[in-house]
Amino acid sequence: MMQRIAQVAIDIPLARLFDYRTTDAQPSDVGRRVIVPFGKGRAESLQVGILVALVEPGAPGASHAGPDAAPDAASDGASEARLKTLHSIDRDLPPLPADLLNLARFAADYYQFPLGATLLGLLPPALRQRRFRLPPPAAYRLTEAGRQHSATLKANAHTQHALAVQLKSGAQTREALKPFHTLLARWLREGWVEACRPKADCPPAVPPSLTNEQATTLAALRCAHGFGVHLIHGITGSGKTEIYLQRSADVVAAGQQALILVPEIHLTPQFTERILQRFPNQRVVLLHSLLADGERLAAWLACQRGEVDIVLGTRLALFAPLARLGLIVVDEEHDGSYKQGEGLRYSARDLAIWRARQSHAQILLGSATPALETWHNTQRGRYQSHRLTMRAISGASLPEIRLIDTRTDRPRQGLSRTLTEALAAGLKRGEQSLVFINRRGYAPALICNACQHIVDCPRCSAHQVLHRNPPTDHLRCHYCGHEQAVPTTCPNCGSHDLRAGGHGTQRVEEHLIERFPEARILRVDRDSTRQKGAFAAMREAIQRHAVDLIVGTQILAKGHDFPDLTQVGVIGADHALQAPDFRASERLFAQLMQVSGRAGRAAKPGTVWVQTDWPRHPLFVSLRQHDYASFARDTLRERQEAGLPPFMHLAVLRADASQMSAAMAFLEAARSCLPSPAEVTVYDAVPALMARLAHRERAQLLVQAPQREALQAYLRRWVPLLHTLPLRGVRWSLDVDPAEF
Ligand code: ADP
Ligand code: ZN
Ligand code: ZN
Repeated sequence: MMQRIAQVAIDIPLARLFDYRTTDAQPSDVGRRVIVPFGKGRAESLQVGILVALVEPGAPGASHAGPDAAPDAASDGASEARLKTLHSIDRDLPPLPADLLNLARFAADYYQFPLGATLLGLLPPALRQRRFRLPPPAAYRLTEAGRQHSATLKANAHTQHALAVQLKSGAQTREALKPFHTLLARWLREGWVEACRPKADCPPAVPPSLTNEQATTLAALRCAHGFGVHLIHGITGSGKTEIYLQRSADVVAAGQQALILVPEIHLTPQFTERILQRFPNQRVVLLHSLLADGERLAAWLACQRGEVDIVLGTRLALFAPLARLGLIVVDEEHDGSYKQGEGLRYSARDLAIWRARQSHAQILLGSATPALETWHNTQRGRYQSHRLTMRAISGASLPEIRLIDTRTDRPRQGLSRTLTEALAAGLKRGEQSLVFINRRGYAPALICNACQHIVDCPRCSAHQVLHRNPPTDHLRCHYCGHEQAVPTTCPNCGSHDLRAGGHGTQRVEEHLIERFPEARILRVDRDSTRQKGAFAAMREAIQRHAVDLIVGTQILAKGHDFPDLTQVGVIGADHALQAPDFRASERLFAQLMQVSGRAGRAAKPGTVWVQTDWPRHPLFVSLRQHDYASFARDTLRERQEAGLPPFMHLAVLRADASQMSAAMAFLEAARSCLPSPAEVTVYDAVPALMARLAHRERAQLLVQAPQREALQAYLRRWVPLLHTLPLRGVRWSLDVDPAEF
């Protein structure tokens, strides 16, 4: 047997592969899970890895670094002899396809994250374990042998008869066969039943006839062959989803696969329902982090075996193994949840574009308020833009947006007189209204009236939020989760005179109950929807008009149809306007457009009221006119002047330690370990916006370049050096294309 060297990716924080000797591995094993010994002496243990390459001994390309070797181990026969031997290869599963390995390689390089951690991180959790159990099939059907067997059953074999009768009526779900649990196992062993897909029991939903804008867009998409990035820039309710569905149908009919990404699947169950209803006969799987490990494994394996037509999922679904990818859809492409905030800090939208290019697939980016990066790319002609300016349901129109000047109409308990009257009028007309406020809890601060001290989290540089959960109130930090009882005296001066400062959803709810005792009021935020199923129940209550007034956070802003909701009142928008983060206004605009989309979805016209101290702010002026383009123009100009994306490419090196000085020292060492070329600027280390989180002091350093390639070239040389710096209790991470800094 031929001795080869297997290069294995392992989930450890080192940016290199590990070599093992093997006589067993074949070229066809590349991409398979392998088990390898790792660690020295008694600390040696068996680890799961992925075989990423197989090379002849002594051939160029062999990394010649055994599990114990230094990263720069010499490439000679001696080191080869010291290599450990590959333990085993998991041939029960098909190998990861080459395109997925390439995607992982690209992501690891682009985000400067270890390939092993990248690769293992994209597997469903069950496959990162040494042993896993394959989930049972979802449904079963009778085989020919089973049919013959059932004809020979004795008259008194009642259970077997019952099972046979049920199976003869068609494929049965596992659930439906539960009473036959033991018997089923035997029939499976005998080959009398086999696994199959559950049978669709309803015909596909009929697509609506397209609006002119939809038809034009679809025709253009159908003409565009192969890879291409298409922005579907359509207002809320303009029928973007319909376009995704029809393009998906196209590629599935052509024998290809569609991958549809959505920001948060549990917040938009209607989207899932629509896809399932439209494609009852196609193989649709869901992939997201809320699935149980077994379900996620089953979905992933179905993809890997090529048994899937459509994948619907969140950002992690981007890594589904799909060998026949023909279409990728990124719905609400501007949404922040496409960026992963830890580990491999990837942007699923950006990687999706890369993947689509590799697969010669078409990619649709859908949004009412595209990310400024995306918009910039359409302006430069890199992406093709398709406009949908009308609501798809005839008669539905965009809501009127009205600004309430809170300098003259001072809010009491958060609500201005104008908004209060509008809510009262809506109630009188029997219509629903939503008060949108993006702060949960009772009040964002507990303030001392005597000395103005605000009670902070003892672990973070953040105010604690007052939560009112009768009978007890408590303070909670929204960053680290720290909770404590409400102090009776000021920790600073001892005064008993403490008050709640500002408004959160609970306080607004309390006020509404007081002001409108006859109304049915519902609060929808992360706290009130914590229990499983609570959100769905609330959504349903709103839809069937079992509530009149809703107080809600952004959890309600996305893709829901609330036909009787005609008014939205926005409070607290100014906080976002003042936020230091450079994407704050972009996010605010998107959020306000989205929440406006909740008003007047059906035939009833809607009104959106926005309370602000700055009614003449350009953002609000654009918003009133539903004019994304003017907002984008203004904001892009600011970005250009300030040297921010998309005109500059950024990476942030973050460090945290128990002492700020240690974090800063690490960053200073990082800054000086590699001089930057002229086209790359490395800024001084500074404390992070939030300088303390959960007892860790945080600092950061910005790297910037006008050209992506220059930044990438620098990072490629710089990050390996960072791995060699002394840590002294510092944890660090690199964030390429950061969402914020
Ligand atoms: P978007 O994704 O742009 O928000 P949707 O595709 O969800 O828009 O469409 C909004 C509403 O209009 C949905 O209820 C959808 O069923 C309906 N709709 C979409 N296209 C059409 C059409 N061509 N004719 C009638 N109704 C449509
Ligand atoms: Zn005080
Ligand atoms: Zn905290």
